[in-house]
Amino acid sequence: MARHLLTHPTSAPRSTPIDPLAQGTQPRIAVIGGSLTGCTTALPLLDAGFHKVAIYEAAPDAAPREGGLIGLEHPALDVLDRLGIDQREFVAYDSETVWQVTVRARQHIHTTRQAYPGRNTTWTLLHHALTSRLPDGVLHTGRRLTDLGTRHGQPLLAFHDGSREVADLVVFADGRASTGRRLLDPSRRLRYAGYVAHRGHAPTPEAALRDFLRLEPGLGCQYNVAPVPGGLDWTFYLTCTPVDYTRHFGAPPERRLFALPQHVSAAARAHVDAHATRLLPAPHAATVHATAVRMAVPVMDIDPPTRMAWPVGSGWAVLLGDALAPVRPHTARGANNGIEQAAGLTAALTQHRRFGADLQAALRGWQHRHLPTAVAAVHQGPAIGARLGLGAPARSPQPRSSST
Ligand SMILES: Cc1cc2nc3c(=O)[nH]c(=O)nc-3n(C[C@H](O)[C@H](O)[C@H](O)COP(=O)(O)OP(=O)(O)OC[C@H]3O[C@@H](n4cnc5c(N)ncnc54)[C@H](O)[C@@H]3O)c2cc1C
Repeated sequence: MARHLLTHPTSAPRSTPIDPLAQGTQPRIAVIGGSLTGCTTALPLLDAGFHKVAIYEAAPDAAPREGGLIGLEHPALDVLDRLGIDQREFVAYDSETVWQVTVRARQHIHTTRQAYPGRNTTWTLLHHALTSRLPDGVLHTGRRLTDLGTRHGQPLLAFHDGSREVADLVVFADGRASTGRRLLDPSRRLRYAGYVAHRGHAPTPEAALRDFLRLEPGLGCQYNVAPVPGGLDWTFYLTCTPVDYTRHFGAPPERRLFALPQHVSAAARAHVDAHATRLLPAPHAATVHATAVRMAVPVMDIDPPTRMAWPVGSGWAVLLGDALAPVRPHTARGANNGIEQAAGLTAALTQHRRFGADLQAALRGWQHRHLPTAVAAVHQGPAIGARLGLGAPARSPQPRSSST
């Protein structure tokens, strides 16, 4: 009989737990979410000798899942390197240069060059590099997890189609709208930060740009653009009230966490085009105007996490990546955090399984190493937003005490 987790969301581990991940056994590891964090969890676990790894991804196989530019720092690049993924497979332009440009009255007035400690990829290139390495039968698409309970003391996953799976360890890598976070850490809710990352891919293959360009045309906006295969990827941050967001994208920000091309109304296009005309130098405004396919992401905040691992019956559940702590995009830390946390989790689980390290201590050590970085990124976002004059003045995230 399944027991609903919500009745005992943080029940203490048994004093002598049955150890499902014990030396020599093959634990069943269920990864919820098959995006960047989910795949970079599954691949190193498989490499480390965990054979019973399954990824459950809500999106159907056929769903178009385009994603934009992502900067990865050296630790995340190193994780991918150790997976044997050649950097040239997912880095199309190997520039480390970021041009920071102050713009006034649509003219560049000051430019500084910075070196980024990493490389730019795109979600699409990286996701393809990761999923193409998953052995057959690991990725299960069209499987939306809806609940987590226990059966005979073991974690039990329930899916939208009524199917169920038993696991020993549940890794929630299910992104900003995480079901895992809602079940395990329900008091942490997303809050709209008052501005939107409008995004587009402009098909301008003749573009001469090789570096990342960040334009700051004054308070209340920021424009980033960089080359990607087949054109330019741009992000235009603009302040937007919740009412206008709903008018532009058909639902409030808390409900429409990703506005896909079909959600972008004519009013939203006109709003972005008008700001580009008024604020950006002419070539950049032209890039925006020429972009047919647009998307948008409302920028959200959340209270910082205080833990990453929860006992569930005789097993465990963990949160990582955006499921743990979605952070504002201009921190450029979301994917980095997820990849670093995934690699750290593999190390902790491998020490437990191969050398008998205490599992709870191993997970506590993993949390101890990765939680501060996640918390720092949660705090960094509102500070950057305030410097840029974007959105509503931030409510300070509430510090809470930590535990495992
Ligand atoms: C404009 C912009 C720029 C960014 N730039 C950077 C950057 O430069 N550097 C950086 O590090 N990060 C950056 N980020 C953040 C980065 O894109 C995210 O942090 C990262 O993609 C999160 O990956 P994830 O796998 O944790 O979550 P997601 O990519 O959101 O994946 C979650 C997956 O879980 C699936 N899912 C959800 N619910 C369920 C369920 N119930 N059951 C099964 N599956 C489910 C979803 O379908 C999805 O595939 C940027 C973000 C934006 C919007």
